[in-house]
Amino acid sequence: MAGSEAAWQAANRGIPVVIHEMRPKVKTFAHKTENLGEMVCSNSFRSDDSEQNAVGLLHWEMRTAGGLIINTAHEHRLPAGGALAVDRDAFAATVTERLKSHPNIRISFEEINELPFDGQWIIATGPLTSEGLGRAIQAETGTEALAFFDAIAPILYADSIDMSKAWMQSRYDKGETEEEQRAYLNCPMDKDTYEAFIDALLAAEKTEFHEGETAGYFDGCLPIEVMAERGRETLRHGPMKPVGLTNPHQPDIKAHAVVQLRRDNALGTLFNIVGFQTKMKYGAQKDVLRLIPGLENAQFARLGGIHRNTFLNSPTLLDHQMRLKSKPNIRFAGQITGVEGYVESAAMGLLAGRLATAELLGMDLPQVPQDSAHGALVHHITGGAEAKTFQPMNVNFGLFRPLDGVKGGRRGRVTRYKGYTDRAKEAWTTWLDTQTLDANAAE
Ligand SMILES: Cc1cc2nc3c(=O)[nH]c(=O)nc-3n(C[C@H](O)[C@H](O)[C@H](O)COP(=O)(O)OP(=O)(O)OC[C@H]3O[C@@H](n4cnc5c(N)ncnc54)[C@H](O)[C@@H]3O)c2cc1C
Repeated sequence: MAGSEAAWQAANRGIPVVIHEMRPKVKTFAHKTENLGEMVCSNSFRSDDSEQNAVGLLHWEMRTAGGLIINTAHEHRLPAGGALAVDRDAFAATVTERLKSHPNIRISFEEINELPFDGQWIIATGPLTSEGLGRAIQAETGTEALAFFDAIAPILYADSIDMSKAWMQSRYDKGETEEEQRAYLNCPMDKDTYEAFIDALLAAEKTEFHEGETAGYFDGCLPIEVMAERGRETLRHGPMKPVGLTNPHQPDIKAHAVVQLRRDNALGTLFNIVGFQTKMKYGAQKDVLRLIPGLENAQFARLGGIHRNTFLNSPTLLDHQMRLKSKPNIRFAGQITGVEGYVESAAMGLLAGRLATAELLGMDLPQVPQDSAHGALVHHITGGAEAKTFQPMNVNFGLFRPLDGVKGGRRGRVTRYKGYTDRAKEAWTTWLDTQTLDANAAE
């Protein structure tokens, strides 16, 4: 997805591009064809609503920028209500054909196993980056900075948490500053609620690993349901331990268990549930997590999961132009940068292709506007996210800077989302215009 889009964007601006693709010589467990742009699982690009949905907004922005992936998806659209579902084989065949027949693109079917020293490169090798290249990246970045599994705890919108039940406090009030002493958001449970929660967790439907995925992640990041299977008290002695915390709403009652949430972005609009990585199915996850006092009406920016997934600690490794700080001739794009999903991956390819082009043409591009969906996402992965707990992210409105004068919470949602998307469209179009003008000037 990302590599195809990046190549298209650069080639259409006159840059000669070589795509290196290891398939079909080297296979992955998920890809089944030789095509570029293969959708490895679902055939959906999710919502196409550009006014009320952040993914739909990314669609709109990619269309406005002449995106190969999004425009080809529209050509092969299948009926799916408000979602953009496609005929996957026809879609990938067209993407491949367009790239193969482009006069500025050559495709070389070979595996890359080393980091290149010179030339402009975009590494978009995805969640299933081959082993050799993974090792070469780790040699450059350090082993801690490239993960091979994600372990995503659910992330929710701060304004959907009921603060009449929850409170802010770090365990034992640890920390030098008041901000640190109040860094965690706590949701208390009495014994009955805890027992009901454990029952629901054990009964919830879980997803299986895909064939070919291994569960080598297990050391140190067990899913909560696996912890609960090991004993009903395990969670109470692990991520749900109640010690060192006092509930200001009921100071005389000691909580039986406490679920802790931590800020997930610098804006403070998103919180993740600490230690709650899970393989519960999405529907079950919402039902079970809403049993937590304070989270009854929680709205989720992304649900939890554990997958085979190669991704960088982008907040520490990449600059705002998606370049590797230690080797700025190399950009990263797609899922390996810590975004999640076909659409987000293609979007990061679009940006990387345009940013590399601008650099090669000597154009001085303004920063990708943070108010656009592309900008919100790239800003998150290259700096807005907490580096220490960084896990892959979907695009969602929690990544957007708050709008002045609009209502928070569920009630204000329609107006707020329309405000975000209007603001994003304007910012994105202005950014694209600067490139047209600059490109004309360069000619
Ligand atoms: C099993 C699985 C299921 C998924 N299901 C979905 C889903 O349903 N919906 C969704 O939105 N997202 C899904 N994803 C997540 C993700 O968005 C997609 O994998 C998406 O294709 C990522 O885009 P990408 O461009 O980053 O990587 P890819 O589309 O995977 O492209 C990377 C390319 O690089 C090639 N490559 C790898 N290493 C090398 C090398 N060393 N040299 C040369 N070429 C190399 C690969 O063969 C591949 O063609 C899934 C991921 C996996 C692993």
